[in-house]
Formats: sequence, structure tokens, C-alpha cells
Amino acid sequence: ERAYKVFAAPVGAGTSLFAVVFKDQSETRRIDRMRADFIANASHELRTPLASISGFIETLRGPARNDPKAQAQFLDIMQAQTARMARLIDDLLSLSRLEMKSRIDPARTVDLKALLDRVVDTLTPMATEVSIIIERRFGAGRIIVAGDADELTQVFENLIENACKYGQSGGRVIVSIELASDEVQISITDFGPGIADEHIPRVTERFYRVEQDGVPAQKGTGLGLAIVKHILTRHGGRLSIRSKIGEGTTFTVHLPHQDKS
Ligand code: ADP
Repeated sequence: ERAYKVFAAPVGAGTSLFAVVFKDQSETRRIDRMRADFIANASHELRTPLASISGFIETLRGPARNDPKAQAQFLDIMQAQTARMARLIDDLLSLSRLEMKSRIDPARTVDLKALLDRVVDTLTPMATEVSIIIERRFGAGRIIVAGDADELTQVFENLIENACKYGQSGGRVIVSIELASDEVQISITDFGPGIADEHIPRVTERFYRVEQDGVPAQKGTGLGLAIVKHILTRHGGRLSIRSKIGEGTTFTVHLPHQDKS
């Protein structure tokens, strides 16, 4: 069912001509529905750790009152649940801040390789912890793109962190830069479990997480890639994903860039 809203606006001064603009209302409805779904999902995601914390408080007051070992264990769980809620709230705030801003200021530019160097340096300790070596294949020369440094940092941190987190079995992650005629492509490749075809188009949806047999569950909110997609759209760019089960995954960030070399 499609509903149209009709606007009439005078064309030019003193003429009796009217232009009629049709606006597809089904699109507005779809967005309303998405927003309602999002609020329901977010509330559910926040309620789950809260319910667990509340349950443990009851236990600490009651059955575990005189059991120091159980108390220590429950406090650890409660702390982990609190951290999870904090991550969720941070991600939700990120998304809502992004939604309030319009497009990025085109006058702002970023030295892409310097930014990627900083991100890789920041994530190296975390990578080392899961026995991952991050390889840089940046090539020569400076690459300047229009963009917001904080937002692009968030994009690459998310993607490289995911590659280390989900691709730990692969032992290494490659970050590479390639120049095409009108864009720059930054690829993050891991050699982990991969993502099945049917999930690939959906992993950028809010709260979408894949549970795969034989792949250990990881901490996360399911909002990281939604944030990445949002930021890239604001930059006039996009994300593409190639993956093969059992071989690994490549996430490629495409950003507008005029190759002047
Ligand atoms: P989170 O990591 O918080 O769950 P994301 O939005 O970053 O949320 O990712 C969504 C889902 O996509 C993850 O839960 C995971 O199932 C899948 N995913 C993301 N990156 C990879 C990767 N490099 N390899 C395999 N699966 C991945």
C-alpha cells in the first residue's frame, strides 16, 4: 500500500502555475517502524543485564549472605554486566549524536595514513593479548581525505577490533590502503571463521549479531557496524564486505578521494 501526500506550491511570482510534489508516505512509515523497533531492542538489551544484576543483589542479600566465595563470584558477574550496560549506553549515545548531526564539514581533512597508524598503535596491545599481529600495507605517499578525524577513528577502531576479536584464530590481520580513480579503499582482512552469505547484508543492522557453531561468543553490543555504516554515509562513502566461511573476512571502507598522482 502506498500513500501519497500532495503539496501544492506556486511556481514563480505572479503566475498561476502550481507544481505538485508527491511524497511517498510509506517511506515515512517505514522509518517510524524502524525507530519503534530500535527503542524496543535497546530497552530489551539494557533490561537483560539489569535483571541479572537485580537477581544477584537478591541472592547476595539472601542465600549467599554468609558465603564469601559466592559473593566474590557474583560481584564479578555484576561488574561485567555493569560494563556491558556502559558499553551499550556509549554506543547508543554515539548513534544518537550521529543522527543529530547532518553531513560532515567538507572543509575538514584527515591524513589517512597517520590516522590509521594511530589506530593500529592503539589496538596493538589488545591484539597481542589474543595473539594477533596487525600488518600495515599502506604504500608510499600521503593520502588526504575530507572527513572528521574522530569519526573515522571510530570506524577503523571498530573494524580492526572486530577483525582481532572474531578473527583471533587466524593469527593476523592486514590493514591495507588502495587508491582507485575517485576513491580510496581501506581494507581490513582477517583469517577467522568468516560470515555466512545470508548474514553479510544484515551485520550492519543495529543489534544484529551472528551466533555461529564452533565460534566462541565475544563481548559486544551489535551496534558497532551500524555506527560504522552511519559515519561512512555521512562521509559520502560506504562499506563493502567479502567473506568466506572458514577462510576469513575483508571489510573495505570506500571514501571519496581525487587521485592526483
Ligand atoms: P558486535 O561486535 O558488538 O557484536 P558489530 O556491529 O561490530 O557488533 O558486529 C555485528 C556482528 O557481525 C558481530 O556480532 C559478528 O557476529 C559479526 N562480525 C563482525 N565482524 C566480523 C568479523 N571480522 N568476522 C566474523 N564476524 C564478524
